This record gives sequence, C-alpha cells and structure tokens, in this order.
Amino acid sequence: MDNPYLDQARELLRKFYGYQDFRPAQRPVVESLLSGQDTVAIMPTGAGKSICFQLPALVFPGITLVISPLISLMKDQVDSLLEQGVPATYINSQLSLDESQQRLAAIAAGRYKLIYVAPERLDTDYFRYIIEQQEISMVAVDEAHCLSQWGHDFRPSYRQIAPFIASLPQRPLVSAFTATATPEVKEDIVTLLHLRQPRIHVTGFDRPNLYFEVRRGEDKKKYITGFIKKHPEESGIIYAATRKEVDSLYEYLKKKKFAVGRYHAGMSDKARNQAQEDFLYDNVQVIVATNAFGMGIDKSNVRYVIHYNMPKNIEAYYQEAGRAGRDGEPGSCILLFSPQDVMTQKYLIDVSIENEERKAHNLGTLQKMVDYCHTPECLRHFIIHYFGGASTDVTCDNCGNCKAGLERIDVTIDAQKVFSCVYRMHESFGLTLVAQVLKGSKDKRVRELHFDKLSTFGLFKERTLADIKLLIQRFIATDYLALTESKYPVVTLRPSAYPVLKGQEKVYQAVPQPEREKEPAAPELFDHLRHLRKEIATREHVPPYVVFSDATLRDMCRVQPQSLDEMLTVKGIGEQKLRKYGQEFLECLQKNK
Ligand code: ADP
Repeated sequence: MDNPYLDQARELLRKFYGYQDFRPAQRPVVESLLSGQDTVAIMPTGAGKSICFQLPALVFPGITLVISPLISLMKDQVDSLLEQGVPATYINSQLSLDESQQRLAAIAAGRYKLIYVAPERLDTDYFRYIIEQQEISMVAVDEAHCLSQWGHDFRPSYRQIAPFIASLPQRPLVSAFTATATPEVKEDIVTLLHLRQPRIHVTGFDRPNLYFEVRRGEDKKKYITGFIKKHPEESGIIYAATRKEVDSLYEYLKKKKFAVGRYHAGMSDKARNQAQEDFLYDNVQVIVATNAFGMGIDKSNVRYVIHYNMPKNIEAYYQEAGRAGRDGEPGSCILLFSPQDVMTQKYLIDVSIENEERKAHNLGTLQKMVDYCHTPECLRHFIIHYFGGASTDVTCDNCGNCKAGLERIDVTIDAQKVFSCVYRMHESFGLTLVAQVLKGSKDKRVRELHFDKLSTFGLFKERTLADIKLLIQRFIATDYLALTESKYPVVTLRPSAYPVLKGQEKVYQAVPQPEREKEPAAPELFDHLRHLRKEIATREHVPPYVVFSDATLRDMCRVQPQSLDEMLTVKGIGEQKLRKYGQEFLECLQKNK
C-alpha cells in the first residue's frame, strides 16, 4: 500500500525540484522515513541521497537537523535549497557571531525546515538551548561512514551525535546516509548511532554513467595535457598524492596556458577558499588537488576525475572518482598508475601513527587497490564486487578493460627480449640501465659493465629510450617484472616471466583506445545556454550548476521548450527556478533556434 504521505512528497518534489518522480532507489528510502522508521541508506554518489532526507523533512511537521562534516558541503547544499525555494540554513564556525545569532533567532521563530550543522556545533550550549525549544522531527546524518574508524574518513566529532540525540527531550527519527560502506562500516553506523530497528537500504554501487580506466606506464603529464585539450570547456579534477606533486603539475599546466587551479592543505585558508570557489563557479576548468579537496564538492557537472597517482584504497578511490558525473551525464574516471605509487602508499602506511592492527588492515586494502590497477577483468565489476554487491554482467562495455579486451595485441617477442635482458643483467640494475642496454646506448656505464657485449644489447635500437622505458613499466605493472623496494629500485623477474622466456606462454597487452566521443544534442545551443547560465551565476553569486545542472541544460537542448509551460517539462526545472530563470532561458532558446 502506498504511504499516504508519499503523494505529498512527490508533489513537493515536482514543485521545488522540478523532477517528476523519485528514482527507483530513492522511493523505498523516502517511504521508510515517511513511515517513521530509523533508516540507513547506502547509495552511490550521484544517486540522489539528499532528496531522500530533504523531502521527508518538508513533509514532517518539525525541523530536520542535517549533520554534515564539511562547511563547504553545507553551504553548497543550502545555497541549492534556497535557490529552489526550500527554507533552509546552516550553522557552523565560519559564521560571525552576529550571523550565528540571527540564524538561531530565525530558527527559534520557526523559519526553517532544514538546518545543516557541523557535529562540533552540537555541543555548544546556546545551540542546544535553542534546539531544545523546537520540535525536531528528524536527525539526518550525512556522510555517515565518518562514524566508523574502519571507514576511510573517520571523524571523532561524529561520535557526539548519539549522545546529542539521547539528550533531546523527545527522540526524533534518525537516518544515516553514505556512499561507501563495507559491511563493517554499516554495522558501526547502526551501533554507534543507537538506531532502533533500522531499515537498511543498500542501492547497487554501480554508477553506469561513469567510464573507468586504468592507464599504466603513461607519460602522465603528456597524457593529461592531451586529455584537457581534447575536452575543452569541461570541468575536471586531477588528484595527486602529495602537495609537491600538486604544485609541480599545477605549474606545468599553467605554463601550458590552461585555466587551472590548485588545492592542498599547505595553502592558506584564503587561497584554498578562492581556489574552490573558482572551480565551483567555472572560472577555472581544471583543479589539481590532493585528497584534501572534494568532500564538500557537490558540483554536479564535473566531467572527469583523473588520478595522477594511485590512492590508498578502493573506498577513497571510488569516493574521489565518483565526484564525476553526479548529474547522471557521462563522466570519465581515469587512474594513471605507476609502480612508484605503490611504494609511496606503503611508505605512508609505514610512517603513519596508526597501531599495528590498523596498519595491517591498511596494507590489505592497499593491495586491493593495486589489484584493481592490474586486473584484466571489468573494472566496474571489480569495484561492485569489492563493496559486496553482486553484479550480473561481467563486462560493462564502459570501462577501459572491457573496451580494450577486444583489441589486445600479442607482445610476446618484445616481452622475451626485455625479460632476457633483465636476466642477463643478473636482475641487479635499474630501469634506465636496462632500457639503455636494449637501446644499444654508448653510455659510459654500459661499456664499463660490458653490457655492450650482451646478446640483448641494441635489440630495440630503432626505438626511443622513453618508449623502451614505457614498455618495461608496463611489464612491471602487469606483474611480469618487479621493482625492488629500495632507494635505488632494481628490475627483477616475477614468476610469470619464466614461462614466457621458455616460449610456453604468450603475453598480450591492450592497445590504448581513442578517447570516448560524446557530443551533446545541439552543441552550439548548449554553448549558448551555458554562457547564459554563467552570466546569471555571476549576477546571483552562486555557482553555475546551482542555477541549472548540465543535465538540465542538455535536456533543454533536447526538449527545446517554446513556452514557460513547456519549460516545466525539462528535467530539473521546478516552479521557483521557472519564475527566476525561465524567461531568460526561453529567450535564449528562441534567439538561437
Ligand atoms: P548524492 O548526494 O547521492 O551524491 P545528489 O543528492 O547530489 O546525489 O543528487 C545527484 C543529482 O541527481 C543531483 O543533480 C540531483 O538534483 C539529481 N536528482 C536527484 N533525485 C532526482 C530525481 N528523482 N530525478 C531526477 N534527478 C534527480
């Protein structure tokens, strides 16, 4: 039987958000909350978690408190809600005393349905005093994996939530939301929030609109330059492992005259805020950042996320990569792997202040990440499987491996030449020297060590040294060769190299594929609409995607509405936005017919 409030919620969804109905994954979560059940929802990024608690919040008689870990996240969500006409506000440490008091007074006057708050605030007396006077219908805990020390982003302040709820005069409904939760994290959420007979909804982890690819042995800077050039005007995030790498890549791209920003914890607060804002407002196209960037970034039109280095585990990777394509339009998630990344991550675990149990756990999850980088199977399948989801298909046709699977070439002869060279050099020298010998280099060291007498000397004389190095790196990445974990890493043979040397097994490698093509319907019209969106965003001081998402603009290109009424049929246009922007967009459509 339909919950009587569901129709009401659906009506509000149309009015405020401009969406015709809940998505199949949202509906059971909304229903569960509307029937008054504590609820945990585990849904991938972009699935539409926010709507799952925002709509029940609008139906409930009292206030919903949304606990959110990051200040930028709150501001972003509240800005979007206000744009849609939903009465919402946030309280955090960035507000001045005056602002904070004004907001608390407005809360006391019952002006808001949704209040976003950082967990640290729950403990302040004045906040509690005001809140205790109100009817609190629900506490919604966003990014609930922060509760668990097994999650990838443990925040001790999240442990204050349960005592806070227990101290309220009347226990509200409690809900928890996260994108990434392994079974142990899920367990922690239920226990640590003291949920009462919660309903747990786990939506499949798949993000079908995202394209996954791992590229090994690439000249990373060159690859990124090429990628940005091929995707002009598209927003992208490039994650690098260290501040130093962020700085170096940022300078490099700046010199190439790309509209690029950077973000890491070593910069001043002011510089970081500016960088974030420039990215949100589409003033820069690409942001190069450490993993300090992004938790609060709700920007829905990020079209690609490139990892310059391999992250520490699959949870972190999927969370970061998942920032692409939140609007449901195609997005690319590309990981540029090099064996050095593994050593960096192992080193970071080794020097971390974690206890031994946790270090061992982290090494295990790192290994899974390394496996992801090496698997010849479907990448999407690998991720879904990792999170305990069942995937029926073993190929997805939308990841690098599924695509490349069709075009593997036989590189057995090359492999034999390289492996035998490593063997003849007694597995005692670094990558460059092996490459020099294969190249037939006249380098002094090669001659001193008499490597110019080896039968493998000069086998690749017609190739460039860089190409030979790349070839060796690919064999390392596919586990035929290894680099020792030492200050001067040495190339050694792995067990899988021997059958190749003996001619018993063949080696195949995927040929790099041309970039995925995707043209929006009516690309010129899309550009005009995008420019109008930017103008409005600048005028209204909000990020462009808060005015309309890329998905809404694309739908507008498809529908090409001729009147304000027709405009309402476009995905993502509700009544408030129609009033605010409908006319301007209609004129733009008519002018560019
Ligand atoms: P999450 O928090 O799960 O990452 P969001 O709440 O940011 O996802 O939603 C992702 C995108 O999907 C947003 O652009 C949102 O407006 C859109 N969306 C959410 N629910 C619906 C729906 N029922 N129909 C169409 N689009 C939706």
